[in-house]
Amino acid sequence: MTAAIIDGKAFAATLRAKVGELARAFEAKSGRKAGLAVVLVGEDPASQVYVRSKGKSTLEAGMASFEHKLPVETTEADLLAVVEQLNTDPAVDGILVQLPLPSHMDEQKVIAAINPDKDVDGFHVISAGRLAVGQPGFVPCTPLGCLMLLKDRLGSLSGLDAVVIGRSNIVGKPMAQLLLAESCTVTIAHSRTKDLPDVVRRADIVVAAVGRPEMVKADWIKPGATVIDVGINRVPAAEAGKTRLVGDVDYAGAMSVAGAVTPVPGGVGPMTIAVLLRNALVAAYRNAGLALADGTI
Ligand code: NDP
Repeated sequence: MTAAIIDGKAFAATLRAKVGELARAFEAKSGRKAGLAVVLVGEDPASQVYVRSKGKSTLEAGMASFEHKLPVETTEADLLAVVEQLNTDPAVDGILVQLPLPSHMDEQKVIAAINPDKDVDGFHVISAGRLAVGQPGFVPCTPLGCLMLLKDRLGSLSGLDAVVIGRSNIVGKPMAQLLLAESCTVTIAHSRTKDLPDVVRRADIVVAAVGRPEMVKADWIKPGATVIDVGINRVPAAEAGKTRLVGDVDYAGAMSVAGAVTPVPGGVGPMTIAVLLRNALVAAYRNAGLALADGTI
């Protein structure tokens, strides 16, 4: 048996096109573009790439992009002042502070300063609380992207056994909350879990968000299960001096047992920015008091 490949790249492209259409409709209704502000402190090369890519994607979706690049020596007070200014700027619907912040800043304090109604990353404790109690809010982009891929593949998830490996605030915990809200029976596994292979073997849905290259093996996977691989790990390639990306799942092995698997790259990765744009658009509709029916996007 060969599993189906879940094409996150294609799904993300469709989602971005839908965001673009709705962004045009938003502009026609409100007389302004939906706006996403991204704040970068310092010159971390990976963060610079992410911020550039987010800004470009925002413009491509027909939204306004506001980039705030601050020097590494910026004080926490000055960063908080920038966040406060964005909180009150009516042209800004979503605010994203690129992490990690320089070590002299308290990330939790900075995230807590973002208006939860503009918290498109979904990292604010109020966003986490809204997700936990089932109120409308913002959900972190990567797990929401995983849920979209799962629902596209499986339709209703009700009653399915789901195992999430990883319990970070950014991926594992919100993923588990989303699956619970879809009426899955959810197990959250982590580094202290006993007999992980046996736990994973029970699952109809496996979400691996660990950061350990190819940890999940073929014989851990229940035949026919749907496997979502969040991991992005750089490992040495066959060719000397080169590297390649692999996930947290042994992809070739999983393809021989599972029903469907996300590849790395081209699975979950492309979903993250597409969902960020989706969250910014939803923020714009909500902040402008315009209706966007549930399930539109
Ligand atoms: P974290 O390092 O914050 O969390 C990793 C989790 O994995 C922890 O809960 C940890 O458990 C658990 N873990 C570590 N070792 C084991 C083990 N041997 N067995 C079981 N569980 C284990 O990572 P993130 O959640 O931020 O990211 C996870 C992966 O997803 C990374 O590869 C990251 O690069 C990738 N990622 C991809 C994104 C995308 O856009 N596709 C976005 C975000 C992340 P414990 O809590 O006990 O320490």
